[in-house]
Amino acid sequence: MAELSPVLKQATPVLAARGEGVYLYDEQDRRYLDFTAGIGVTSTGHCHPRVVEAAQHQVGTLIHGQYTTVMHRPLLRLTERLGEVLPAGLDRLFYVNSGSEAVEASVRLARQATGRQSIVAFQGGFHGRTMGAGSLTSSGVKVRAGIGPMMPGVVFTPFPEAYRHRSSEAEAVRFALAEFDQMLVTVSSPRDTAAIIVEPVLGEGGYIPAPPEFLTGLRERADRHGILLIVDEVQTGVGRTGRFWGHDHAGIRPDILITAKGLASGFPLSAIAAPEELMSKAWPGSQGGTYGGNAVAAAAALATLDVVRDERLVENAAEQGARLQEGLRKVAAEHPVIGDVRGLGLMVGNEFSTSDGAPDTETATRAHQAAAKRGLLLLTCGPYGNVVRMIPPLIVTAEQVDDAVALWAEAVQDAVS
Ligand code: PMP
Repeated sequence: MAELSPVLKQATPVLAARGEGVYLYDEQDRRYLDFTAGIGVTSTGHCHPRVVEAAQHQVGTLIHGQYTTVMHRPLLRLTERLGEVLPAGLDRLFYVNSGSEAVEASVRLARQATGRQSIVAFQGGFHGRTMGAGSLTSSGVKVRAGIGPMMPGVVFTPFPEAYRHRSSEAEAVRFALAEFDQMLVTVSSPRDTAAIIVEPVLGEGGYIPAPPEFLTGLRERADRHGILLIVDEVQTGVGRTGRFWGHDHAGIRPDILITAKGLASGFPLSAIAAPEELMSKAWPGSQGGTYGGNAVAAAAALATLDVVRDERLVENAAEQGARLQEGLRKVAAEHPVIGDVRGLGLMVGNEFSTSDGAPDTETATRAHQAAAKRGLLLLTCGPYGNVVRMIPPLIVTAEQVDDAVALWAEAVQDAVS
């Protein structure tokens, strides 16, 4: 009998039979409060009626209109619609299926447009698992272990991690920018450096928001040296952080923006956006893909953007995110094992540490599993797996946030007793 590869590591022993809004149900119809959203994907909740209707209609009309062969309306409409929410000037789009592919597309574009090779990525960052995107990833060695050598031309510098270094945020930013500057004079000359790729909130690396001064510091350096700034909004985009884009918190302008995950409520779709002047520097035929910009995914994305607007989900993410953090801080105040609660909008992490400040992966794992037993699905992240993250659909209500906090308090109690 064939079985799934043991390489897959399932976070919880749940067999999901159906999903509705913020809930998942197993085959026995047991209900779970889903604060994972399929790793930040089901932005409008599971099976939002408007997304279901749009996708069903599209399935009966045209499933696959391959975009290098023929064009189709859903993709043209989606492009127009994204133009309303993208940063000014980033009005040329290219679609693929996953975050990793979009990251790779952005690297191709950056290298072709600048004629330079180096890509600067941050230690702890996650940009995907394909060989190119994986080469930019350092959220944990498991993504890279045993498969090297990775793509050459990648340089890592530190991300500001105030909690880990027990420093103030301002000190962490000063340190990270100083290291960045040092890198440009010791490792990769600006003249060799094509791009910087950064997440507005370090995601898989531990849910650490980039301080605005860090992002503006990178923008300044990119401008000074003609380096492109690629902002990876795969996890932070489409309202997740309480602003439409994560980088909006810093008020910076990316040169290339990457979006995926929450964009199509669960259908595989990703895109890069860049100004025409930049996008036109891509070598003809160097980007493409069989499934990119799939018609059903595009229709689902259009419905997603409508729901995000009509149900004010960006505002809801800000409001419920603040409520969630407030509740989680109260839990942390009673349990010193939770050393830090942090995040932006509905992207919140609880970091577990021992009394001497070392990562406490064991207790984090126990709390994560105890929460699942109590009907609250969560994920872990961070290089040590000691950060329990909460990333519910953007439709989550105050009552559901309060339910999750109550279940979490019980789960942490289970984990420490
Ligand atoms: N970039 C970021 C910031 C991500 O969080 C992820 C996925 N967790 C990716 C890229 C890769 O996306 P995918 O798994 O769709 O390839």
